Order: sequence, then C-alpha cells, then structure tokens
Amino acid sequence: MPATPWEYSPAPETVPVTVPERTQLYVGGKFVDPHSKKWFDTVNPSTEAVLSHIAEGDAADVDAAVAAARKALKPWSRLPAQERAKYLYRIARRIQERARELAVLETMDGGKPIKESRDVDVPLAAQHFFHHAGWCDKLRYAVPGAGDPRPVGVCAQVIPWNFPLLMAAWKLAPALACGNTVVLKPAETTSLTAMRLAEILQECDLPPGVVNIVTGAGDTGRALVEHEGIDKVAFTGSTEVGKRIAKACAARGTRLTLELGGKSPNIVFADAAIDQAIEGIVQGIWFNQGHVCCAGSRLFVEESVLPEVTRKLEMRMRSLRVGDPLDKNTDIGAINSKGQLQTIERYIAAGADEGCTVCQPGPQALPAKGYWCRPTFMTGVQPSHVVAREEIFGPVLAVMSFRTPEEAIMRANNTPYGLAAGVWTEKGSKVFDVARRLQAGVVWCNTYNQFDATSPFGGFKESGFGREGGMQGLAAYLAE
Ligand code: NAP
Ligand code: MG
Repeated sequence: MPATPWEYSPAPETVPVTVPERTQLYVGGKFVDPHSKKWFDTVNPSTEAVLSHIAEGDAADVDAAVAAARKALKPWSRLPAQERAKYLYRIARRIQERARELAVLETMDGGKPIKESRDVDVPLAAQHFFHHAGWCDKLRYAVPGAGDPRPVGVCAQVIPWNFPLLMAAWKLAPALACGNTVVLKPAETTSLTAMRLAEILQECDLPPGVVNIVTGAGDTGRALVEHEGIDKVAFTGSTEVGKRIAKACAARGTRLTLELGGKSPNIVFADAAIDQAIEGIVQGIWFNQGHVCCAGSRLFVEESVLPEVTRKLEMRMRSLRVGDPLDKNTDIGAINSKGQLQTIERYIAAGADEGCTVCQPGPQALPAKGYWCRPTFMTGVQPSHVVAREEIFGPVLAVMSFRTPEEAIMRANNTPYGLAAGVWTEKGSKVFDVARRLQAGVVWCNTYNQFDATSPFGGFKESGFGREGGMQGLAAYLAE
C-alpha cells in the first residue's frame, strides 16, 4: 500500500505560555532559591531549546522542606474534613481554568503530543483532585473497621517524567485528602508543570508547608526518601531505583508504596474484532511515545490471524504522524530526552542483532532537531530475546504468536513484571477466564490504557505494590 500523502497544513497550538528564566523551589508556601545556588537546564525535547533553569535542591533544601511539612501537619490534619475538601476542590477547578497553559507547558517540557496533554493528562489531573475532594469527609468508609481515620504523616513522593503533572496529581490528591503533608520531587527533565501546580496551590491559599516541591536529579530524590523526618515514601519510577528505595525504607521501617516498571502483554484472540484490536494495539504501545509504565509492549496474536494483524498494523502505522508535539494532528511526539532516545535505539539494535525483523513503516521524514523515534514493531521475536523481556519505555512493540489460551496466559505471565494486560476477544466467558489468570494489576478487555480516578492502579511482582486511585488508593495514606 502506498504511503498516504498529507494534504493539510500543520496546525500548531498557539503558545500562550511564558516560561520563567529560572524556576525556584517551593518550600513552606514560598518560592525560594536552592541552598546550593545551582541550577540545571530543562530542554524542549522537540527543539533542544533550553526552556528554563531549574533549581537543584540538595540535602539542606530537603531538610527545610521536610521541616515545613512537619510543621504544617498538625493544623492540616486537624482541619475539619469538609474544609480540607474545599482546598482540593479549589485546586481541581484552578487546574481546569489553567488547563490550556498546563497542557502547552507539559508538551513543551516533555515532548508529548498536545492532543494527549490536553485531552488526557490535564483533565485526569483535575479529576484526581475532584475525586479526592469527595473522599475527605468519607474516609471512615474507605477502610472499614479502621476506626477514626488518621493520616500517616509527612510523605515523600518521587515521580517520573512520563506524566509529570498527572503523576503529581495522583500522588498529592490522596495524600492531602487523608490529611497528610508532602514533599514532592519531580523528575529532572520535567519539573515545569509541577512548579506551575505550586503556583496554583499558592493561588488556592493552601496553608504553607502542606505541599513542598523540591526539584533536582536522582541525588535530591535519594536525600528525600532517606530523610529521617518522613513517615512514608511513595515512589513511581524504575524497578531498579525502586528496589534501592525499598531497602532504605525497610532498614528504617518507613511505610512504602512502589509503582514501578512493566512489560505488559496485549493478547489478541482470533475471534476479536481485528480492526478495533488494531486501534487498541496502537493506543497500547504508541500512546505517549510508549513512555508508559503499563504500555502493551508485548503483543501476543493467535497464530491464525497473525498475518492479518501484522498487515493491518503496518498499514495503520503509515498514518501515524510523528513530529511537532504542539501540532494538534501529531500522534507521536518527541522522545523525552537524549538519554532515553539512546536507550531505545540500543534496544532496537539489540533486537536486530538477535534476529528479529524491525519494521518502521511511516512516510514522513523526522524533524532535523530534537529527539525522535519512529513507531516500531518487531516480528520473529522469541520470549528469550531482550526486546521481549526488558522494559524499553519507548515506541517499540515486540510481536509474538500463540495457539491456545493456555499458551497465551503462560507466555503473558512469563515476566518479572505484572502491571497491566489487554485481552481482545468477542467471547465474554473467555475474557473472564483469561483475565482472572493474568498476573496483572489492571486487565483491560477490548480496550487499552483507560485511566480513571475511581479505578485503582498498581502492580504485581516487580511492578511494585500498593494501589493509586479509587478507594483502594486511600489505604496507603491512612495510619493503620
Ligand atoms: P527513575 O530513574 O527510577 O526515576 C524516577 C524518579 O526517581 C525521578 O524523579 C528520579 O529523578 C528519581 N530518582 C532517581 N534515582 C533516585 C534515587 N536513588 N532515590 C530516589 N529517587 C531517585 O525512572 P524514570 O526513568 O524516570 O522513569 C521511568 C520508569 O518509571 C519506568 O520504569 C516506568 O515503568 C516507571 N513508571 C511506573 C509507573 C507506575 O505507575 N507503575 C508510572 C510511570 C512510570 P531524576 O529523574 O531526576 O533522575
Ligand atoms: Mg524538559
């Protein structure tokens, strides 16, 4: 099939956002310079232009932030629950009011397509605050039999770069609803929307110290999660760093929840509606350039429909637009950082070396500047291949086949991870039978990558423990 010509012009979002030359820390309700007086650059990965200089928080800044959170804990946790709810509600409303600005900023700083930051990240971030505003005065129903709900205390929260604002909302909303105070560390490459959220918290008159945000790299995160003054750690990031944090927390008895990596299976049975499944495969692996912990990165297709699925997938990929993330027509934006692009390229080369066939259909030339990777799928993949075992965290799909439901389940579960899974079939009974036996925190049936504040999200095995969202997500922020 010939490449589809693009007959319409680019439609870039206007950029109503000004980015300050310097982005400070947010401690005790004030924006402050870092003790170190050091700053690092955050770049726009689609242009490589420096957007802002971000404060590099060190151990002294973490000390100050933890002290501010400790001081704020008693008054905040003793506030009548309905009053706490008003703050969360106000934050949600303000996120909605500043939605366009937040979406543009998220896309500029992280590289994701504007249609995703506009339609997914920002609305879901607001939804998490709305949802948790409703829980504030109903906590005693969330953990039945636990008596009077009490907060855990000062929470250290460390988040990754793939959904910067949304991950901040996932972490902050339940913690605040339960009466905790927080020190949050955003990822090094994507601090801008978290700091814009700090502005929103200030506008909403959230009492000083209830939320503190300390920017910086891995060392700042380490100083935070190993700080003696914290009562709980909530970490979202790689399994490798998560294991290190688990050790440090175990040594001190600090409460911990971990949301880690994944290598999720997406299983297509021959009786599935194939055209819908193709959309689900696309949504599963190429949403957010594949920088998704629960990305459907291992595709298992029933052998009899494998040729049809790969043919249709290839055809669909030709219509995916890679390019300017601020263009509303863009499907696949920029890879978040140069380092991540190099990692992805190493995996693609490793797959080719192991004998996989690498397919990168798609008509367009990639922009000259910035970090780009075409949507990629690999066939001829064996379960032992590195591309079938390790998390790539990029737009790369490993395609494999199976003959029976038993084989599909066995192969899907043959991974150290257990975050999510997709099942595509017309038969309801098969959906339930297969979903029941998949070791995954979330199983999507005839859909993929659906998120909602009411629905708990979290992993099995090396994908972590604890749940975020829904009633189940509150347990981690309430004292036992
Ligand atoms: P990462 O390297 O583990 O980083 C995550 C966060 O931890 C970042 O803020 C990072 O700071 C910080 N950090 C690094 N070293 C640390 C240390 N020793 N102590 C404390 N904090 C430390 O992960 P990433 O590469 O940014 O993110 C990708 C990973 O996150 C993938 O594995 C993905 O699957 C996972 N993830 C999981 C979920 C989930 O819900 N399960 C959601 C999203 C992403 P810097 O960024 O400044 O280095
Ligand atoms: Mg950036």
